[in-house]
Amino acid sequence: MFRNLKPVGRILYGRNSFDQLGDVLGELRIEKDSFVLFLVDEYFDGKDFLKRIPVQEQDILKIIDITDEPKTKTVDAMVAEIKGLGKGNPVSVVGIGGGSVMDYAKAIRLMFTNEGSSVLYQGLDFIKNKGIHCTVIPTISGTGAEVSMTTVLTGPLKKLGIKGNFTAADQLVLDPELISTVPEPQRFYTAMDCYIHNIEALNGYRRTQMGDSLGQESLRIFRDIYLGNDSRSPENEEKLMIASYLGGLSLTYSEVGACHAMSYGLATVTDIHHGVGNCIVFNQLEEFYPEGVKEFKEMMRINNIDIPHGVTAGCTPEEIDKMIDVSLTLVFMWAHVCGPDWQKIITRDKLRGLYMKM
Ligand code: NAD
Ligand code: ZN
Repeated sequence: MFRNLKPVGRILYGRNSFDQLGDVLGELRIEKDSFVLFLVDEYFDGKDFLKRIPVQEQDILKIIDITDEPKTKTVDAMVAEIKGLGKGNPVSVVGIGGGSVMDYAKAIRLMFTNEGSSVLYQGLDFIKNKGIHCTVIPTISGTGAEVSMTTVLTGPLKKLGIKGNFTAADQLVLDPELISTVPEPQRFYTAMDCYIHNIEALNGYRRTQMGDSLGQESLRIFRDIYLGNDSRSPENEEKLMIASYLGGLSLTYSEVGACHAMSYGLATVTDIHHGVGNCIVFNQLEEFYPEGVKEFKEMMRINNIDIPHGVTAGCTPEEIDKMIDVSLTLVFMWAHVCGPDWQKIITRDKLRGLYMKM
């Protein structure tokens, strides 16, 4: 089956384009009591930036705690709370933040129009009804969540995306000014999500010309930023935003690979966040991506970044087994990496050996 790509509906792009958000939302505020639900990354709590958000009296603004990555139970609770107000549905759910807040916005807007818990919809194409309008505004770049057809949630049993034709946002605002405050090493870790997406997408069995073209351009821009001598110049912030966007798009026509398959396992047991978790895993994957890992290490050196080491040292054999179990469920990723006979190559012992090195 071919994927029927549904990228984000409309894109407002440019430095300080955020200030046009009021006009964009104004088009949706048709009824007198229309309201918008704003979800804002906790970093902005108490900052002047909050005053720039075009919140009207009837709107709701929630500061989002992202100590943990997005959870199904938080999605369900937020939807129940808003529905309980008896105001009807918001005309848009606006997520202002990183992959976590954007994924919350993408998931919450779906659960206003689909019955039951969001747990029921983790996986591919389980969502049946179009969600309400959703606006995403990245304030940190790399995940591609701003354009992807998935929203990654951790449920009681698994970390897995709600993936499908209804998941991409309707409106994207790309304002490079918004990512200028992200501290290191967080910026590097999230940016590397984009690099790793590209390396994985461009090495495997599910490649297509569409995926390759988008991924190669994203990678070209990325190398410009991180192999140069000032990854944080305003020009490079803008490039990073575009690399993330193109990388996110490319994945619909390819697939992530060994790093994501293993980092989902790592995250399930250790609660290590996606960006840094990917870096920890990717650092050990020379066998799968020799050139990519070499270049990744060079990027770390140039940018004075180190990653946590020994993160699995304190894990019990049962915990390592759990990581392996989760990783082995990601069959489409492993099939992309090694082909249809991947199970002959990706053995439990191989995965155990790699996890123990992290
Ligand atoms: P994040 O959203 O978890 O945020 C990381 C940190 O950066 C937080 O502490 C946040 O407060 C801070 N931050 C954000 N913007 C800032 C700013 N402008 N200035 C200062 N600090 C700022 O990080 P992320 O790496 O963007 O997202 C990770 C999440 O995205 C994970 O939950 C992962 O599963 C998900 N993800 C989703 C997709 C998708 O396609 N939907 C793809 C990859 C990853
Ligand atoms: Zn990723």
